[in-house]
This record gives sequence, C-alpha cells and structure tokens, in this order.
Amino acid sequence: MRFVILGAGPAGLGAAWALQQSGASWTLLEKNDRPGGLAASFVVDGFTWDIGGHILFSHYPAFDQVLDGVIPRDEWHNHERRAFIRMHDAWIPYPFQYNIRHLPSDEQRQCLEGVSEANSNRRADLPANFEEWIYRSMGKGVSDLFMMPYNRKVWAGPPSEMSAQWVGDRVAVPDLARMMRHLTTSKDDVSWGPNNLFRFPKSGGTGFIWRRVTDALPPERMLFNAPVVTIGADRRAVVTNDGRSFPYDVLISTIPIDQAVGMTGLDRGMRAARGLVRTSTWVVGLGLRGPLPHAAREKCWMYFPESEYPFYRVTVFSHYSPRNAPEGCYSLMAEVAFRPGGCLPGRDALVQACVQGLRRCGLLDEEAEPIHVWTHMAEYGYPVPSLGRDAILDEVLPALEKLGIYSRGRFGAWKYEVGNMDHTFMQGMEIAGRLLTGTAEDTLLRPEWVNRQR
Ligand SMILES: Cc1cc2nc3c(=O)[nH]c(=O)nc-3n(C[C@H](O)[C@H](O)[C@H](O)COP(=O)(O)OP(=O)(O)OC[C@H]3O[C@@H](n4cnc5c(N)ncnc54)[C@H](O)[C@@H]3O)c2cc1C
Repeated sequence: MRFVILGAGPAGLGAAWALQQSGASWTLLEKNDRPGGLAASFVVDGFTWDIGGHILFSHYPAFDQVLDGVIPRDEWHNHERRAFIRMHDAWIPYPFQYNIRHLPSDEQRQCLEGVSEANSNRRADLPANFEEWIYRSMGKGVSDLFMMPYNRKVWAGPPSEMSAQWVGDRVAVPDLARMMRHLTTSKDDVSWGPNNLFRFPKSGGTGFIWRRVTDALPPERMLFNAPVVTIGADRRAVVTNDGRSFPYDVLISTIPIDQAVGMTGLDRGMRAARGLVRTSTWVVGLGLRGPLPHAAREKCWMYFPESEYPFYRVTVFSHYSPRNAPEGCYSLMAEVAFRPGGCLPGRDALVQACVQGLRRCGLLDEEAEPIHVWTHMAEYGYPVPSLGRDAILDEVLPALEKLGIYSRGRFGAWKYEVGNMDHTFMQGMEIAGRLLTGTAEDTLLRPEWVNRQR
C-alpha cells in the first residue's frame, strides 16, 4: 500500500513514525517550511516563542519511548506546575476550589455552600450541556466566580452550547472535605491534576521536539513547502499547489477536517463539517529587558477569568527555559480567544490591550517597555466540543474512510479531549497501526479511558 500523509504536526509525524517502523511505503506533504504544526516554535531576535504556552504531558509509554529516543534526558528542563488564577486583584493558586482561602470571606462561604448543595443533589442522569455540568459538579459559588467566566472566555462562547461528554478528568470536581481542610489549615493545595509535573526542551521551544522526531525520519520521504490543494478521491491522488500529483492507496490526513472535505468535494460532508465549531487564538509575545517583576516570579502560567483582561492565559515563557529569552531578558506570552468572524481589535490595538492588562496585574512594571513584540494568529486554535459535534463526526469520518481517507489529529478528528500533543501523535500512530495490523484506535474511540491512563 502507498500511504500519503498530509501535515507534519504531531499527528502526521506519529503516522510517519509508525509506518517507518513497519517498513511501509509513505510520503508526507506539509505546507509549511517546518514540522510541528500548532506545536512549532519560532526564534526571533533571540526570543523563542510557541503558539501559546505548550506543556508536555503524556498518557502513553509508547509516546515517552519515542521522545526519550530522540531527545536525551539532559536536554530537558523538568518543572512543577505553578499555575494561578487572577481574581479580585489577588493570585489564587490553581485549582481554584482548593485555594478559596485567598477570597473574601463571603465568597468563601458561597463556594462552600454551593459545593455542599451540589453534593447533596447528585444525579445519575447526564447533564444536557457543559454549563449544566459546571453547576451540577461545582455548585453555584465556584461556577459563578470562576468556572463560568473562565470557560466563556477560553471558548469564546457560552458553555451552554457545549457538550458535557468531553470533560472526563480534565477539570477538578471539588471535594468538600479537602476544601475545608485547606481553609482551616491556611495551606495552599496545588497538587491536583494530570499535568502538575512537566518537561520542556532546554532550547528551541516545543518545536524542538518535533524537529528531533522529524530528523529521525528519512528526509527523502517528507516534502515541506508543499501545500495540498486538491484531494482527488476518485482517482486516489492528491495535488499540491504547484501541480504535482501524489497517488495513494491510503490517505492519512491531519489537516482540519472541514478543509479536507472541501478539497475532496464531498457534498454532504461539506454541509455537515460547516457545523463544526472552533476558536481562533491570537498569541502575543512580549520580550522585556531587566529583572522579572515580583508578580511573575514563581509562576508558570496564569488564568484570567475577569473581563477587564483581554487574555484568558499568560505564560512566563522564559521560566520554561532561560534560553527562551536572551541573557538579561524575560518573556511573557498572552493568549486571546475569539470565534472566527467575531469582532476583534487589530493587531496593534490588541498588543496595546495586552500590555495594559499585564501592567494592571503587575506582570509588567509601569515603566517597562517591551523591546520585542511577537504575534501569531492561529486560525484554528481550539476545537470546540459543541453539542452537535459528535453527530457531525459520526457522519463525516466514515464518509471519508469509504474513500480511503483517514482524518486524524487536533482538527482532523476535532476532539479537544484528545487534542494535545501526546494524543495527536498517538492518533497518528494508532491509525497507522489499525491499517497495517488491525490494532485498536483507543485515542479516537475511547478518549475517557485514555485520559485515565497515567
Ligand atoms: C494555544 C494552544 C495551546 C496549546 N497548548 C498545548 C499544551 O500545553 N500541551 C499540549 O500537549 N498541546 C497543546 N496544544 C495542542 C497542540 O498544539 C496540538 O496537539 C498539536 O499541534 C496537534 O497536532 P496535529 O498534528 O493534530 O495538528 P497540527 O499541529 O495543526 O498539524 C497539522 C499540519 O498540517 C499542515 N497542513 C494544513 N493544511 C495543509 C495542506 N493543505 N497541505 C499540507 N499540509 C497542511 C499544517 O501546516 C500543520 O503542520 C495547544 C494548541 C494551541 C493552539
């Protein structure tokens, strides 16, 4: 079988890796000049930038094995998560619900009462949407203060229009006894969750990982600067923008599925795929000279639920590796979400709004002026688990498969719950495994199970 892979992001590279291991014949086509896709990095004026703060976490021994094989231990920094929430002019350690001692006392009471009420009203039926899941699991206090405003911001839309199925263990459901314990002992509790330890490359940003994976694959099988413009499903060939045609028996596509069906000309698929919802993400990177302001010390990233801040998250990116900034400098990276077609300020106004927001919360000193500004707009940022998503995927994925096209990856399969780097690399490996030897695609088909693995 001749395999053609579209895209050299983690999913495409995962497929290439598995096909190479098995001795299959494959060709990979990538529109950009570099691998990594959304997990690529950019070095400009001595500053290294990711497309939003990427932290590496793994649910898979097979994924760790590949990474350990291409990047030696001494080329990583190991970090403990130090995440905070900015609220009421205070820094509340994440997860919010276990650190409410930083809130005014009437809000502490609202949170405790809400969780207690939610616990006594537990129901077995599934919540109708994400908003209902939030209120049922967290109670009114935590929901009104943090969960609802934060989620509205990060998804750039109402949680009532999202499904509740994807949540799994990605969000900490509060344990009342634990909340009380930390309130009475006045101790912060920061250890919850799947990503409280993570590693980051010492140089080259997150994109370094994907460059190393690419370097371990045969270069003659990979074409960069080769955007595919047509998928000729009837004659089983893809065509690049310079007219070159690449025949295939099996096409593994990791480009956004709505674009793939558009290139295939699949009528019903196109109509259905239009219903998929996504956010776009503006990333604003600011490079600064001088010592890190006090507020930015001891912090990895921060969440901003309040509307006076344009961003939903800020990362102190020079903490991840000192080599992310030139000597004597530090770097901050802000992420702003919006829905395609939504109203957004222009680039300069957005940078200005981010600078003002960072000054307001003390991450930028009043007199500090950025010496370097980097912006990047990811048209495809977060695949939204909307209410209609699964029905659309149940229609479009099999329709493509009938044509020998297997769409996988963050926007290839449009599943946020398995849309991180480890998941998408494994989606690529698993589809190759299924096609070659009939093994199961756990990541695509059993996201909850996969996310329970450590
Ligand atoms: C703001 C943000 C923060 C994130 N944070 C994290 C994090 O902390 N941890 C984590 O693990 N993950 C994180 N991710 C997710 C991570 O970036 C993705 O898991 C990963 O990049 C998805 O890989 P992919 O291969 O599925 O898709 P992509 O990375 O999108 O790769 C698709 C590739 O296809 C190429 N392509 C598109 N169209 C064509 C065409 N017509 N012809 C040829 N090639 C084409 C693209 O150029 C791209 O290289 C984050 C993502 C975003 C946007």
